[in-house]
Amino acid sequence: QFPFGRRLPCDIYWHGVSFHDNDIFSGQVNKFPGMTEMVRKITLSRAVRTMQDLFPLEYNFYPRSWILPEEFPLFVDEVRMMKDSDPSWKPTFIVKPDGGCQGDGIYLIKDPSDIRLTGSIQSRPAVVQEYICKPLLVDKLKFDIRLYVLLKSLEPLEIYIAKDGLSRFCTEPYQEPTLKNLHQVFMHLTNYSLNIHSGNFIHSDSVSTGSKRTFSSILCRLSSRGADVKKLWSDIISLVIKTIIALTPELKVYYQSDIPAGKPGPTCFQILGFDILLMKNLKPILLEVNANPSMRIEHEQELSPGVFENVPSPVDEEVKVAVIRDTLRLVDPQKKKIKDVQSHKTMFCNLKNPERQHIESCKNQVNVRYNFFVCYRCQALEHVPEAHEELLDAGPADRPEYDTSRSPEPGLPSLCLKQVFPKYSKQFNYLRLVDKVAALFIRFLGVKGTTKLGPTGFRTFIRNCKLSNSNFSMASVDILYIDITRRWNSMGIDHKESGMCLQAFVEAFFFLAQKKYKSLPLHEQVASLIEFCEYHLAALDEKRLVCSRG
Ligand code: ADP
Repeated sequence: QFPFGRRLPCDIYWHGVSFHDNDIFSGQVNKFPGMTEMVRKITLSRAVRTMQDLFPLEYNFYPRSWILPEEFPLFVDEVRMMKDSDPSWKPTFIVKPDGGCQGDGIYLIKDPSDIRLTGSIQSRPAVVQEYICKPLLVDKLKFDIRLYVLLKSLEPLEIYIAKDGLSRFCTEPYQEPTLKNLHQVFMHLTNYSLNIHSGNFIHSDSVSTGSKRTFSSILCRLSSRGADVKKLWSDIISLVIKTIIALTPELKVYYQSDIPAGKPGPTCFQILGFDILLMKNLKPILLEVNANPSMRIEHEQELSPGVFENVPSPVDEEVKVAVIRDTLRLVDPQKKKIKDVQSHKTMFCNLKNPERQHIESCKNQVNVRYNFFVCYRCQALEHVPEAHEELLDAGPADRPEYDTSRSPEPGLPSLCLKQVFPKYSKQFNYLRLVDKVAALFIRFLGVKGTTKLGPTGFRTFIRNCKLSNSNFSMASVDILYIDITRRWNSMGIDHKESGMCLQAFVEAFFFLAQKKYKSLPLHEQVASLIEFCEYHLAALDEKRLVCSRG
């Protein structure tokens, strides 16, 4: 803490709430720009919906959702249609105010007409969602899981998941929703902040009892009942990776705006709290993502009426201490240096013979301390002055980044954070289509520091990618830009800047893909258009390079 202002640059900056300090030019910050906005209920629902449009089966872990107030008519129509086609369907819906937390303002309804659209507080933007009526129960109680996920880097994408999490229990035995019990929050909502006020709340003194337990203790119980716990974990890992894949395109837009490429700036990492509900059949459902999950390891105890004391909470301690400790181990700047040196060493080893000879004989070569080669002419390698010689021989660069058996951390327990990406990237990379659309969007943003595309940028995109023709004139391009941009801006998401936001660009891109590649599934249409655009942009880059050489 720097009560009188910071004087020296730090290796790691630990911000309490969000990324906000624009005066950081090096080191690592524990928050990504834009993450708080991205995980708000409406933004998250929109980002997941884009992925559901492309890959409906892969993204069926998020309940069907509608955004209020603008999609209220759509919600009414769709529910009516579904009820008409299946009269036995008796759904329940949960209404959650945007930006709310700790169960604040949440209520259950049986019919769209029960939504409180009038009144000042109730009319605030919200998400209405299908309510999962058949959750898995333990001791007859509904519970959810809080899992900690470390987004270590956005580019390249690196994700770690904590091996253990928390299970937070309701305090009234669960019954499927009826008009009579809809209002019983202690039965339907698992929030700790709500249930703590129930007379039935039990502070856990071990990790496997009480109203907050470790997730591993639940897994043990499930496993002893014969459940396929391995499959459950792999489903959870898949849910986490897919959710982050849905968030990355917009995060990259925020990132380039706050930390423009090529300028000095920090890198970012972030611990996220994933709230997951298990259905009776053990299917995990994403409830929400928390950008600033509570890391408290104490709880309040009332010693005598009105007199409170903070006492340690063993369950929180068990899970959270490990998450923070291992996050710091993974982002350890010393470790980053080892990695850099290793990758430079591999780079050197991978060079072709003439290049290696050039570096070895180069006049500009500086044999810096610790026998490390630097060639300023070809700049194939960079100076890493603080590297230690023995670290250069620490093994091949492509061995797992974190090999605890060899790590120089005697006395520390093995890592609780498990790498899932890029480890499983092969299984998930095909989903990263919107990332590629975002890369096109960022390329045409032009002025650094913006998050919205102007009409000229959009026109240049169309022209450079050769997307206009006799069937689609530049006048139609302008109309498309105006129509979509106006609609997105009228939704009142961000009025700070004018222009086309990424989501609007994605909508325009999907429209163009559908127009160009008729009768294919949407994801194939989009993939084909991306390939088409990338091809023309690469050709253009080549042409420019030749011209500039000329
Ligand atoms: P908040 O940010 O206010 O905690 P959540 O989205 O986490 O909002 O919802 C609060 C609680 O409501 C969850 O912990 C869960 O118990 C319950 N809940 C939320 N969405 C659903 C759903 N679709 N189906 C069943 N229960 C839900």
